[in-house]
Amino acid sequence: MQLLDGKLVSAAVKEEIKQQAILHKNNGGKQPHLAAILVGNNGASETYVASKVKNCSDVGFKSSLVRLEENVSETELLATIEQLNTNADVDGILVQLPLPKHIHEEKIINAISPEKDVDGFHPVNIGKLVLGLPSFIPATPFGIMLLLKHYTINTAGKHAVVIGRSNIVGRPMSILLSQNTEPGNCTVTLCHSKTKNLKELCLQADIIVAALGKPGFLTADMVKENAVVIDVGITRVKDESKKSGFAIKGDVDFENVAPKCSYITPVPGGVGLMTIGALLMNTLNAVTKNKL
Ligand code: NAP
Repeated sequence: MQLLDGKLVSAAVKEEIKQQAILHKNNGGKQPHLAAILVGNNGASETYVASKVKNCSDVGFKSSLVRLEENVSETELLATIEQLNTNADVDGILVQLPLPKHIHEEKIINAISPEKDVDGFHPVNIGKLVLGLPSFIPATPFGIMLLLKHYTINTAGKHAVVIGRSNIVGRPMSILLSQNTEPGNCTVTLCHSKTKNLKELCLQADIIVAALGKPGFLTADMVKENAVVIDVGITRVKDESKKSGFAIKGDVDFENVAPKCSYITPVPGGVGLMTIGALLMNTLNAVTKNKL
């Protein structure tokens, strides 16, 4: 069994981004600038945004954080997005999800200019992704593709089972794995809460991506020998032994699944770190117009 080390690979990805940003600037280009909007003060969202801002400075990007009150109106949030859309100095915009219940998430995502949508959630970017056209790719599936590429995992002709069909993880992951690319060219089964024979499907899988948000869901009896297992799950579970009072758990029963795998991602230290690397890559591409 080999660990797919998100720490190691994301460090390499970040170094490459840093060098490309320097090159771009030396050729007369501008410094990439990511603007993040955070509504309210959800603990996990605060942590994610702080990490994104820190990572921007690690690779020499400029970043701005716009903080809005939990009770901000949808109109005010839309006006903030419009200001960033028209600000020529801002290259990438992200709105940290989830948003408070009174705000229409879809309306907000659709308001971000597709050219600055570095999260890759706008319908224009999703549409391009489906057609295999250059686009911003949602950061988590993009990060997983970078991880598979780094370890030169042979995916062509393999059966991949993706558990979870969300617009930000599972569905784009299934599209990327099915595309005629390397990595890619998988035969993909996309599973969700109504899937009936999940265990049987998983037992046929060469690659499993678990993205459902249920700690320890994927158990050893659901995984065949030598499978590649990618754990996307991040759930905060109460843990008195931790200073923070919680531990981060993935969707895979790592201890028992890992011995059966050819490759597996740990949680933490796997997909989460790659997601940040992919977001920075999208922001760099927003400036250089590379691959877009
Ligand atoms: P989500 O929007 O809640 O979607 C969960 C998906 O899992 C849904 O499609 C749901 O099916 C499916 N599901 C739920 N229970 C299931 C079951 N028993 N069997 C099969 N499918 C089931 O979640 P998400 O935003 O995709 O996130 C999933 C997990 O990844 C969460 O833990 C989240 O924190 C984590 N995450 C991690 C990163 C990272 O950077 N590592 C990034 C994003 C998300 P239905 O569609 O039928 O409801």
